[in-house]
Amino acid sequence: MGRYLMGFDMGATKMLCAVLDDTYNVIAKNKVKTKGSGNDEIFSTICRCIDECLAKLPSDAPHLDGIGIACPGPIDEVNGIVRSAPNVGVAEFPLRRLLEERYAVPVLLENDVNAGVFGELVAGAARGKQHVIGLFPGTGLGGGIIMNGELYAGATGGAGEIGHMTVQSDGRLCGCGGYGCLEALASRSAIAKDAVAAAAGGDAPALYAEVGTDLKKVTSGVLRRAIDGGDVVVKRMVERAAYFLGVGMANCVNIFNPELIVIGGGLVEKFGSEYLGVAEGVMRERAMSSLADTVVVAAAELGDYAAVIGAAARLAEKLETTTSKKSKPSAGAPAT
Ligand SMILES: [Zn+2]
Repeated sequence: MGRYLMGFDMGATKMLCAVLDDTYNVIAKNKVKTKGSGNDEIFSTICRCIDECLAKLPSDAPHLDGIGIACPGPIDEVNGIVRSAPNVGVAEFPLRRLLEERYAVPVLLENDVNAGVFGELVAGAARGKQHVIGLFPGTGLGGGIIMNGELYAGATGGAGEIGHMTVQSDGRLCGCGGYGCLEALASRSAIAKDAVAAAAGGDAPALYAEVGTDLKKVTSGVLRRAIDGGDVVVKRMVERAAYFLGVGMANCVNIFNPELIVIGGGLVEKFGSEYLGVAEGVMRERAMSSLADTVVVAAAELGDYAAVIGAAARLAEKLETTTSKKSKPSAGAPAT
């Protein structure tokens, strides 16, 4: 009988979870708004999201075999702790222990961007690939690296911070403290800052009419509508962000020689090929041609479910390793 795992995406605005079968089909899903702050309140929200999802399962469904959680911010994988996720309102949050105690199943925590890239690898745009770079421009700009078919974690688990690659050494200050990081120039937040400044100056009337100068309200959808409404200046900002994304992609191509670059997030969903086309063109112009010639650029396929599926898949991978270790006879054991 197949395995049933839950994938869970702990987001700053919403929590999304799904029970998946062993080919990553969604059996039941649920979404709740992220409410409250502090470890206790957030833990109740997480449990409510999980409980409601489990209640949607058919009564003859097999019981759950584990929960994989995609978490924003740094995590301590060894101890199962979310170190700090200020956007969600938790810190030093012993989530793995709390969930294992409550649901009595194995729990795995994974960084949300890594989970998203891994989801695309097992069930999305990167299926069957071995060497993949994933980039997700959004509030920040998350990145993940697949090497030889596996997620590359680095020496201390922190690899893949592609958003903090310097692409303009004297550029704008980034949230990480650096200057001219890819995230500071190509994320949706970066575009939103410029767009709001333009709106305040009277140069983006369509955007101003919809959200005024409220930075928090500038979603990818708002940017799309501003451009459709005639805000040429906003169009140029999105193109500039795509240009910098292309510069970052070229650097990745030169370092990793990937066969595929997957781009996900709201900007890709709202701007599609016009946005990807600019980024891809810049990458092909700037990367070494021997490497640029073979790389494919594709939009992510799984949307909101990439991290949910990826977190469950990471747990499946871990459970398989544990099972095969247990069932494999140790080297040198008598063959009786
Ligand atoms: Zn940075």
